Amino acid sequence: MLRLLILGGTAEARALANALADRPGVATITSLAGRTRAPKRPAGVVRIGGFGGAAGLERWLATNAIDATVDATHPFAATISANAAVACRRRGVPRLALARPAWTRRPGDRWIAAADTAAAAAQAGRLGRRPLLAIGRSGLAAFAACPGVRFVVRVFEPLSEAPIPGAEVRVSRGPFDEASERAFLRREAVDLVVTKNAGGRAAWGKVGAARALGLPVLMIDRPPPPEPPRVPTVAAAASWVDSLVAARRRTARR
Ligand code: NAP
Repeated sequence: MLRLLILGGTAEARALANALADRPGVATITSLAGRTRAPKRPAGVVRIGGFGGAAGLERWLATNAIDATVDATHPFAATISANAAVACRRRGVPRLALARPAWTRRPGDRWIAAADTAAAAAQAGRLGRRPLLAIGRSGLAAFAACPGVRFVVRVFEPLSEAPIPGAEVRVSRGPFDEASERAFLRREAVDLVVTKNAGGRAAWGKVGAARALGLPVLMIDRPPPPEPPRVPTVAAAASWVDSLVAARRRTARR
């Protein structure tokens, strides 16, 4: 059995674990950070919680006899990706990053680029009176100092405390398609969409809806991508795993 660690927290990580569930010769362990109270669980073994930095992950790889790792974390989860690269290199564990492509501007898009969350917070108050903040939980505090702005904050689990004074919090769990996002943006009278450039289909609906409604989008750029090797799709990551399994079989036969 090839013992594969999948660093997860994304739809792609789940899809990969599910795709590998029936493959002989592979046993997956998906790791989740534990931010979500009721995460969607993939097939295979799931473990939850941080490892304790790169050194902790390195120890965990050894203790759990991990043969290979796919880093399928979110494009904005730069710390765990960096830790995975370091820990796998130190232990000689093959690692692949599954990094979905970023969204790209198309005709009709009114995107304003922001280098990071702080830059987006510095611009949001100038660009909208009623912006939708669809950036997840982390980073919301940066928008607390935008006087006169009535944010709509969308999160998929209730927040323990109000992140921004006067903001209206809407709790609902995607994925949302473009039509329902159009209806949501109209209903909430949103005049600016603030989002991370997450890429992929699950979070794209609001971007398409903003284009259709002629709304500006404050698009937060990604941090630098994980170290190569990288592939853009679940199918390509599954093929990489297949090739490792085949190589092990060849070695075992010799
Ligand atoms: P991060 O900033 O890169 O990581 C912070 C710390 O959280 C890491 O050092 C690690 O703790 C722990 N961690 C992160 N991902 C982990 C995983 N899959 N398994 C075990 N520990 C993990 O990560 P983040 O941006 O907070 O994201 C946390 C998780 O949410 C990730 O799994 C990511 O895929 C998912 N997610 C993030 C976003 C986003 O916008 N950032 C959006 C959707 C989903 P230790 O140092 O103790 O090991």
